[in-house]
Amino acid sequence: MPDRPDRMPSRAAELAHLHASGRAKGDPLAAPLVLSSVFHLPGDPAGARQYGRYDNPTWEVLETALAHLEDAESVIFPSGMAAISAVFFSLLKTGDRILLPEDGYYTPRVLAERFLSRLGIDWDTRPTAGYLDGGFEGYRLVLVETPSNPGLDVCDIRAVADAVHAAGGLVVADNTTMTPFGQRPLDLGADIVLAADTKAPNGHSDVLFGHVASRNARVVATLREWRKLSGAIPGPFETWLMHRGLETLELRFDRMCSSAETIAARLAGHPAVRRLRYPGLPSDPSHALASGQMLRFGSLIGLTLGSALEADAFIDACPLIEAATSFGGVHTSAERRARWGDAVEPGFVRLSVGCEPVEELWRAIEAALGGIRPGGSTRMGT
Ligand SMILES: *Cc1c(COP(=O)(O)O)cnc(C)c1O
Repeated sequence: MPDRPDRMPSRAAELAHLHASGRAKGDPLAAPLVLSSVFHLPGDPAGARQYGRYDNPTWEVLETALAHLEDAESVIFPSGMAAISAVFFSLLKTGDRILLPEDGYYTPRVLAERFLSRLGIDWDTRPTAGYLDGGFEGYRLVLVETPSNPGLDVCDIRAVADAVHAAGGLVVADNTTMTPFGQRPLDLGADIVLAADTKAPNGHSDVLFGHVASRNARVVATLREWRKLSGAIPGPFETWLMHRGLETLELRFDRMCSSAETIAARLAGHPAVRRLRYPGLPSDPSHALASGQMLRFGSLIGLTLGSALEADAFIDACPLIEAATSFGGVHTSAERRARWGDAVEPGFVRLSVGCEPVEELWRAIEAALGGIRPGGSTRMGT
């Protein structure tokens, strides 16, 4: 673990008591769920909540909580992609060029191909492990995703930020795989951090959500204006659920990362596992960089089994693994990423370690792997 001072335990403790000072006797402790599209607005509308596309009291509670964790003003969106779209469409203009990770979450690349290119915004891609190679001259915006999803390669956020800034660009970090408790891209020099809170921050697999945070007031004002004008707003109920999930993020993420460390170390010695990626393993190519810039090593493990058949059989055979896309939920889940066309081996499984007690989880994983005979065939999957 890095020896950098970690303010996150105190932020986690304060999160539970953020509204204590403004509370009157008899007020509820729980965040208010306000389902209202309009507000009482007589006379001069200035300075008051005006309309549900501009403001909502439940949004304010969640944005205050996220700002506390990010140590930066935060703007919420109805999904991770809505957060990414808000950054792209509000901050870019015709003639701009952007850089996207070749091995990161694939939807931003599809969005660029289908919709940014027709606005005259060009884009290139580069593998995360070699993100510094080639420099950043000419890029208005550089998106980093580290560890990358699903390959779990890592790049040096501070070095990228320094080089991009020297070239006059903006650095946007997609911190979805790490959450504010696992990695602090703004402290490492990124201009903007964003995340799909659909994953661990909500954590209960019942809401899609996203947010963008920045210490640049102009960027935040532009994002707020974009949200208000585009109408890409979260619903109050989803916002309330997301806030409820966020209250236990520190606890869940701590368990998930600790369990992932234990399970990765045990998988590393398993005969059915051909290759293993986890930034917390000293043998992993990402380990040195990860140790320097991440507060935790994350809850995702990449393991390669002998074939697509073995991978599917393993997932199906383990009663404590849900076969599902996405990650970061309380339940452990996994999927064979090649089924989406990711550039990974056919037997590559992205394992998202959940909140189950670790020894129970390991026993179930070990038993499911035990059904795989090294050499390619399986005797499971009925
Ligand atoms: C899931 C994910 C997104 C998109 O989030 P949605 O809520 O599905 O729109 C963006 N970036 C990363 C790294 C993700 O894993």
